[in-house]
Amino acid sequence: MTEEGTFGGLEFETTEEIEVPDKLIDQVIGQDQAVEVVKKAAKQRRHVIMLGPPGTGKSMLAKAMSELLPSEELQDVLVYPNPEDENNPDVRVVPAGKGKQIVDRHKEEAERRSKTRNAVLLLIILAILGFGVVSYFQTQETSGLFLSVIAAAVIFFASKYVGPQDEKQTPKLLINNQQKETAPFIDATGSHSGALLGDVRHDPFQSGGLGTPAHERVEAGAIHKANKGVLFIDEINTLRIESQQQLLSAMQEGKFSIKGQSERSSGAMVNTKPVPTDFVMVAAGNLDALKGMHPALRSRIRGYGYEVYMNDTMEDTPENRRKLVRVTAQEVEKDGKIPHFNREAVGEVILEANRRSGSKDKLTLKIRELGGLIRVAGDVARARGKDLVEKEDIIEAKRVSRTLEQQVADKYIEKRKEYRMFESEGESVGRVNGLAVMGDDSGIVLPIVAEVTPAQSKEEGQVIATGKLQEIAQEAVQNVSAIIKKYSGQDMSDHDVHIQFVGTYEGVEGDSASISVATSVISALENIPIKQDLAMTGSLSVRGEVLPVGGVTSKIEAAAEAGLNKVLIPRANKDDVLIEDKYKDKIEIIPVGNIREVLEVALKGKHKEGFLENLREMAFGAKDSVTSM
Ligand code: ADP
Repeated sequence: MTEEGTFGGLEFETTEEIEVPDKLIDQVIGQDQAVEVVKKAAKQRRHVIMLGPPGTGKSMLAKAMSELLPSEELQDVLVYPNPEDENNPDVRVVPAGKGKQIVDRHKEEAERRSKTRNAVLLLIILAILGFGVVSYFQTQETSGLFLSVIAAAVIFFASKYVGPQDEKQTPKLLINNQQKETAPFIDATGSHSGALLGDVRHDPFQSGGLGTPAHERVEAGAIHKANKGVLFIDEINTLRIESQQQLLSAMQEGKFSIKGQSERSSGAMVNTKPVPTDFVMVAAGNLDALKGMHPALRSRIRGYGYEVYMNDTMEDTPENRRKLVRVTAQEVEKDGKIPHFNREAVGEVILEANRRSGSKDKLTLKIRELGGLIRVAGDVARARGKDLVEKEDIIEAKRVSRTLEQQVADKYIEKRKEYRMFESEGESVGRVNGLAVMGDDSGIVLPIVAEVTPAQSKEEGQVIATGKLQEIAQEAVQNVSAIIKKYSGQDMSDHDVHIQFVGTYEGVEGDSASISVATSVISALENIPIKQDLAMTGSLSVRGEVLPVGGVTSKIEAAAEAGLNKVLIPRANKDDVLIEDKYKDKIEIIPVGNIREVLEVALKGKHKEGFLENLREMAFGAKDSVTSM
């Protein structure tokens, strides 16, 4: 691709020149359908369910939605003591900004009254004391003075105790929307019930009038804070069913009383008058979120709103590349602390977006992860004292910002290297370097060894494999036995096949190992050695075709890391190869279409030709000749 093409024809030197839109909704990329839905839902005040992988913009869209809601309708909520029933505080809703004024007025009034009272009190105390002093001078007896001092002290302390009554009448400003320019966005993901539905605090001094009055102890929940705005809940399925039920009731009624959530607390006795909960709900989650969702809640949202699926990739077009340039600028500005990116560094971000999509003509939309990489690259550049992020910084960032799973895989691979569990030269009968993926995108070389013996049991031969991979091994042997029967007349059921996956452990996925299993079995059966400087990945059909598999890029990189010279991949995966430049000269990638092509490359030795001659007569589904990339 030309340098221009990398950026979709966009002219710029650093991301500082790229304009970032003001509104969040205009910053979202690659989710056109979701953006459409959010705009519509905001206009009509409808609920939305967003399903899709993490980090694709669900919470961003929910927040964007709050910016689209009118802020004129915002309200303040006040809680008042209820003279008739202390445990049932009154609630008053006023336009935004009014709440603070009311509370301030109450406070001023209380202050004014307390000042007057203090003045009166002072006069009374002085009068009593004066009376005591005068009586002392007249009678020369101390008892009068003593009594007056006691009386003054009693009045003083009694006033302290009764005095704050006024303050106890002041309402509590539960929700304050003074000077808010946008409707609230409340993220209630993972909230416990108190945080979600509101709570009343416990009061250890509740009896005897010393305590904090009930209305003062009322706390708003997310559903109340989100009034007239957006309530966002990710992983909605992890919310307890009772909480989902209460959430539903808040949505239906538009109001929800606050009561103490913990049973043993004194707060549990308190239950307020209803508090408004007129929010728009944005519920998010993975695809399986629907399973854990209360059916009534889901149907409520569906009936009164929209469901939308998030994309995890977008087409690799000039327009979308330009959008990724902008996303880089957005992430830099959002972080606020890292330097801007120069053109080459942005090119690296786009390349990574391409790689992470797993397909040559796609770009990833898991922007949160991409943003993580951008931030780490920024930190690297800053640590190096630069005021622009350069290509080398992002390459370093890629090295350090590996996920935990990747790091575990790295350690594991490191160990395997020490022990040299695989061979990378020479040849060996029944032994193949297979390839697997660990921890999302770390490839590993996974040697497979097959041994074929006459069947122990009279009825039929067995496939014996280690661990979890038994199933894969069985399937692979089944598929390959049809082929073997066809070319050699040999019946696999006359043999026991032992398959060992060398040094595997739980996390390895093996479904892409079936051509490796087949190759090692054929090699063992025919006693033809396999070259050890190559690795292979691919799935095998009953007809001998090599079917596509996942993770080819990481697998190829792992093979190159391991010092192997060649790697066989399914021809159908040819367009998914996005290996880093540093591996390009290290390894030859050979796309293959059927098992004969695999064997042609992998086998060695004097029996090979005759054997292949036999195979050649068989028709295979896929194309014939072996081509090199
Ligand atoms: P989700 O809620 O789907 O897990 P988020 O909305 O929290 O993902 O995404 C995290 C961050 O990643 C966002 O704040 C934003 O900076 C960036 N991001 C994610 N998706 C997009 C997108 N489609 N367009 C632009 N930026 C995005």
